[in-house]
Amino acid sequence: MSDFIPLPEPSSNQPTIQLSRLEGGYLHLPSDLFMTPNTTNTTHFRVPDMCWLLRHPSGKSMVFDLGMRKDIENFTPGVYKRLQELIKSEIPEDVFDSLRAGGVDPQKDIDLCLLSHIHYDHCGDPSKFGPNTQFMVGPGAGKLLWGENAYPVDKHSHFDSKLLPRDRAKELPIPGEAPEGYWKPLGPFPEAHDFFGDSSVFIVNAPGHLPGHVNLLVRERSGGWIYLAGDTAHHSDLLDGKAEVSTYTDAATGCLKCAHSDKEAAETHIKRVRRLRDEGGVEIILHHDMNWFEKNKNRFPVSS
Ligand SMILES: [Zn+2]
Repeated sequence: MSDFIPLPEPSSNQPTIQLSRLEGGYLHLPSDLFMTPNTTNTTHFRVPDMCWLLRHPSGKSMVFDLGMRKDIENFTPGVYKRLQELIKSEIPEDVFDSLRAGGVDPQKDIDLCLLSHIHYDHCGDPSKFGPNTQFMVGPGAGKLLWGENAYPVDKHSHFDSKLLPRDRAKELPIPGEAPEGYWKPLGPFPEAHDFFGDSSVFIVNAPGHLPGHVNLLVRERSGGWIYLAGDTAHHSDLLDGKAEVSTYTDAATGCLKCAHSDKEAAETHIKRVRRLRDEGGVEIILHHDMNWFEKNKNRFPVSS
């Protein structure tokens, strides 16, 4: 395992990020889909779908993840079927309601939307942004989204090739093919990209969960670092080492499945995130962490 590269100290005049949490709905996840053992008495967890608004002092605004869309029938047929048969959802408020309630106009005020990965519960409805919002997906997501196995060419696919406007969507460069110096080691991670070039936000390549999975390391305006860990793990017990990533038999196909497309890489990434917490003193927020949510849901309001 590589050495821990210290996180950069703040510069004089260090830009920091105003971080706000956005509502993305709730999912009822069967616990055996993602962890073993389950030490609680419940077979399903009602988990939040937490999304984020990042405001940089330059005036740039970025949304990280879009949660669920309210009109779930407009997901691909494969996703809609999964939501009807396996995973119950509740979407009393979506990201766009949440932005508007905080006085942010999604039609005008958002420069960029970055998706941690393209699973349906992170993709929402990007068409609700205005015409000037740009979109970004992580390295490797492009093949899922725009390749030959996407919906509608593959009618069973969960990845909708029409999800993002192609002329305003960009895929981050794949490590190994990226320009020299684009990805650099940081903390326990081999690949991080200093997004604004001022060490306020790092995009971290987070392989294992799904091709294109990325996380964000954010220098929050209180001065501390916050790590938005996406679907690195679906429960804090996995991060704490009290449970393992599970595999399960898919009821429809009889195949052995895992919540992560590459279980081994996902386990390696979980260990790295644990090191960031333990050696770097960074607060970790798992996208679906109901325990964090219960304690902290009012900590990052949208209005300033
Ligand atoms: Zn996911």
